[in-house]
Amino acid sequence: MSRRGRGCVYLVGAGPGDPGLLTLRAAQLLARADTVVHDRLVHPGVLEHARPHARILYVGKEGGGESVRQEDIHTLLITQARLGRTVVRLKGGDPFVFGRGGEEALALEAADIPYEVVPGVSSVAAVPAAAAIPITHRGLAGSVTFATAHRAEGAPNWVHLAGAETLVLFMAGGRLEETTRALLSAGRSPTTPAAVVEAGTWEHQRVLEGTLTDIATRAQEAEVASPALLVVGEVVSLRSQLRSLAARPVAEPALPLTAEAAHE
Ligand code: SAH
Repeated sequence: MSRRGRGCVYLVGAGPGDPGLLTLRAAQLLARADTVVHDRLVHPGVLEHARPHARILYVGKEGGGESVRQEDIHTLLITQARLGRTVVRLKGGDPFVFGRGGEEALALEAADIPYEVVPGVSSVAAVPAAAAIPITHRGLAGSVTFATAHRAEGAPNWVHLAGAETLVLFMAGGRLEETTRALLSAGRSPTTPAAVVEAGTWEHQRVLEGTLTDIATRAQEAEVASPALLVVGEVVSLRSQLRSLAARPVAEPALPLTAEAAHE
């Protein structure tokens, strides 16, 4: 595909799960790639777009184990590109939303490797949508704040987060208890609607709904696992009105449009 010694890297967003949410550009690049480097949040159906003989390298963590070090991922991308390969680095959601895509881009920049970023459908809006929660809604929320509960990103400004109209918290899975307590201490009302969406858009998606006071306990009782997003705000209450959307099975194969439907 690529000429020897002139490889390149595409930092590609794979969307939140459901392979139907992959972009066309991502699918086209996967079909051309010599090497695909992916992590845990990438649905196996997405990888089916890769060429049969492409090298598929997994760099995520397995069952709470250690993931491959970020520097080693940089080295891998650089080495593969220097071998003249077309590399697709697939990341869950969008590469630049808590995906460390910026760090990989900086490393490629420093190594003088040609690269491109292909945005993906981030879980920030897609996962709440899959749970029948519009993250903005006229009269309820005109702004959204999204943040991570991950320690490595530094201590969150809880007062700021508690004041958000809609708050979407990434990587909150293991920290729900302390996260919700912190938001309550920072002044958010205990009756604020809240939901946890586990594996949004995947076949095994689950949604738990409650209030800021009880959502952590509910999630703990249901043994919610990663990946999960916490959504806090009045918009969560729309779920009970969007009943047919909330009841729809997830990851249904997209229906092909008939010629008439396409022209309606
Ligand atoms: N770049 C990704 C986010 C990576 S950080 C994006 O744009 O979506 C990983 C965190 O994203 C997870 O811990 C979880 O909080 C969230 N996440 C990603 N995919 C998810 C999914 N399908 N369902 C629920 N949360 C998800």
